[in-house]
Amino acid sequence: MTYQYWNQKMETLPRPELEAYQLGALKTAVGQALRTPFYKERFGKAGISSADAIKSLADIRKIPFTTKHDLRDGFPYGFLSIPRDEVVRLHASSGTTGTPTTIYFNREDLSRWTSFVARSIYATGCNKADVFQNMITYGLFTGGLGFHAGGEEVGMLVIPSGSGNTTRQFKLMQDFGTTVVHATPSFLLHVESKMREEGVSRDSIKLRKAFAGAEPYSEDTRRRIEELLKIDVYNSYGLSEMNGPGVAFECQAKNGLHIWEDGYIAEIVDPDTLEPLPDGETGELVLTCLCREATPMLRYRTRDLSSFYTEPCACGRTHRRLHRITGRTDDMLIINGVNLFPSQIEEVIMSMKEVGNNYLIVVEKEGVLDRLTVKTEVGQDIFMDDARPLNALREKIRKTLQASITINPRVELHESGSLPVSEGKAKRVQDMRPKNA
Ligand code: AMP
Ligand code: ZN
Repeated sequence: MTYQYWNQKMETLPRPELEAYQLGALKTAVGQALRTPFYKERFGKAGISSADAIKSLADIRKIPFTTKHDLRDGFPYGFLSIPRDEVVRLHASSGTTGTPTTIYFNREDLSRWTSFVARSIYATGCNKADVFQNMITYGLFTGGLGFHAGGEEVGMLVIPSGSGNTTRQFKLMQDFGTTVVHATPSFLLHVESKMREEGVSRDSIKLRKAFAGAEPYSEDTRRRIEELLKIDVYNSYGLSEMNGPGVAFECQAKNGLHIWEDGYIAEIVDPDTLEPLPDGETGELVLTCLCREATPMLRYRTRDLSSFYTEPCACGRTHRRLHRITGRTDDMLIINGVNLFPSQIEEVIMSMKEVGNNYLIVVEKEGVLDRLTVKTEVGQDIFMDDARPLNALREKIRKTLQASITINPRVELHESGSLPVSEGKAKRVQDMRPKNA
């Protein structure tokens, strides 16, 4: 395979040079952070009075962590490091875990962010000949405008279709010959179900690739989307606190996400002790933004769980790769004392051919016990009015899940296309248990 690079020098910079670059950028970020009310106070307590406190990359550990909670406390302007009238845009997190948090950009911040998104898109083999339909929410969420600008920077024809309305999405694809889309993995699965339902033939669309992100998904889900839609799916990771998309992305090797280390410093720490973990071990991803002036963000605890690959990538890029994010530290459910991540359920059911494209996890209290119900759609070849095969399938799913998660779930089968689809990030878990019970 021949790999293409948007910024070959930076993407293949030898590690010692890359790290020297990071050190310079980290010092700049610390200096900038000291201009914000939040970090001035926080750094003061940690004994950091100037960028000179950072003499090596290892000194990053002197910097205190920043949490989502801090961001909320600092709302609205506690993290702003430049005069208000130099800010040209704001974005907010979609509130995966509650109240949204706000990030500000100046003109240069936007242009740096755009170049990281363009680099990510280009790394998947796209170029100006592509027609790119951005099937994601526009607005405060960064995925819309972020990918939009990156796509234009690459020179693709960008269709700002936004999320939802599959009928209109198909029409746009057919009219303009869309070759690439960006969407959540759950929306891509929904698109595939709707294509079948509406009788849209695969030959009538020219789709080749998709960027899928904004929510966790398993390797089996990727494979399922690729096989059903006959496209290549690339994992896209980002978060509003680090600008949005373009933080880490898969290259054409499709084997882990390169984190753009000239824009972000990544650490993996033990979520309990906050000590760094050896490469290869799974822990909480902590990110430092090196490419934004207006809102410095250092050692931000993402709550996302990942690990570093230890071996280099076939593409020749020197920027390290992250394993796909399996979930968040705050995702974990405790069911009758057993820890369970929703991704464990997804891994099991999405590998089963008879299971359809959507599922929902419901947790309830039954007396003193927790009750786990997994609702799945059935595949297209299964008829809902034929009880015997349905019972057999239900039992098969239950047994396979039990063997894997050690919890005996109730399994409910639903007709293809009948479970709710979210326009933004999928809401896979309904925890109906009373709080503080
Ligand atoms: P937001 O700030 O609203 O853009 O949400 C960012 C969060 O979405 C991240 O912290 C992750 O929890 C999640 N996320 C984004 N991209 C991915 C991905 N490719 N895989 C798993 N989770 C993702
Ligand atoms: Zn690579």
